[in-house]
Amino acid sequence: MEHSNFETVAIRTQLEQTSYSEHSTPLFLTSSFVFDDAEDMRASFAEEKERNLYSRFSNPNTTEFVEKISKMEGAESGYAFATGMSAIFSTFAALLKSGDHIISARSVFGSTHNLFTQYFPKWNISTSYFNVNEADDIERLIQPKTKVLYAESPTNPAIDILDLKRLGELAKKHKLMLIIDNCFATPYIQQPIKFGADLVIHSATKLIDGQGRVLGGVTVGKADLIREIYLFSRNTGPALSPFNAWVLSKSLETLAVRIERHCENALKLAQFLEIHEMVTDVKYPFLKSHPQYEIAKRQMKLGGNIVAFEIKGGIKSGIQFLNHINLASLSANLGDTRTIVTHPASTTHSKLNEDEKLKAGITNGLVRVSVGLEHIDDIIFDLNQALDGVL
Ligand SMILES: *Cc1c(COP(=O)(O)O)cnc(C)c1O
Repeated sequence: MEHSNFETVAIRTQLEQTSYSEHSTPLFLTSSFVFDDAEDMRASFAEEKERNLYSRFSNPNTTEFVEKISKMEGAESGYAFATGMSAIFSTFAALLKSGDHIISARSVFGSTHNLFTQYFPKWNISTSYFNVNEADDIERLIQPKTKVLYAESPTNPAIDILDLKRLGELAKKHKLMLIIDNCFATPYIQQPIKFGADLVIHSATKLIDGQGRVLGGVTVGKADLIREIYLFSRNTGPALSPFNAWVLSKSLETLAVRIERHCENALKLAQFLEIHEMVTDVKYPFLKSHPQYEIAKRQMKLGGNIVAFEIKGGIKSGIQFLNHINLASLSANLGDTRTIVTHPASTTHSKLNEDEKLKAGITNGLVRVSVGLEHIDDIIFDLNQALDGVL
């Protein structure tokens, strides 16, 4: 029986039972699969039957993970990768050729930005950028060789919201492929395919695992595009390991309940920060003060687990604040059960000059909190005492 409710899909999309009648999907740690005879082997390699040959191509655990997340995103099919970055790189590498052009939102994940600026030019693939708050710029950037419109929403670390419906309409009008990195929202909060995205990419390392254990990535979307991505990937080898696929498929079973609590905690923290005297500019999509609040309410079920705010006093205050944190972790990850605090201007983005920082929406006092699943009173207590520590 096919189910359509999100939570049921997440739990009941499962491999067929083996002869052991197990209840929970077992781990298939096998690099290859055996054939009955020469004819079986020939037909399998000729793709006349759908079956596993070799775990670089497919494996039961990766298949379960991909089928599940595809259904959760409303996608036709997908392919799973070792990391979010291998999903992003392989998707572009499979679909673009020399001379092609990408239009990307300016604030995308740092390594994605590095791909566009440092590596794709080596293969004569160029990128133009639009600013989140100047959506009208996009059409001006279109060239005859533009193939892809690329964005994330909410953005990192400024937590701006892009209008996915508008991006979908633009992509359709100009026959561009719309690719959305949906890592910060997860399919529980928003499903970009509903707004016209052709492909959706995730770093499964973040909220999909949600417990800070494994790396993973996935691209889902239109079957013909996924087929190209699959063929490229089975030759180049960025496949997700069966063990990580098993972990991630299990994680999806609890995604809905985890995201509900993450977002409840994040909203409470955002409301607390909004009235704190050391804090000036709290960015959380479901706060009425958020500049794109109306868009967020339209396209998101909940506000997500990331809260950004500006601490009075710039770099110095940001560093003092981090040094007074007790409970929360100072870590490069996000979307963990553990609350994580970062100060981009003194860490991840410290190499950018003032102009580049401003363009990426990073001010010197910007603090990003990935709100975890600890009790909200303890999270607020910790951030409050760390703010008290700022002189
Ligand atoms: C972390 C992240 C990535 C990269 O994912 P990895 O699994 O670390 O390779 C890509 N996009 C976004 C938005 C991310 O947060």
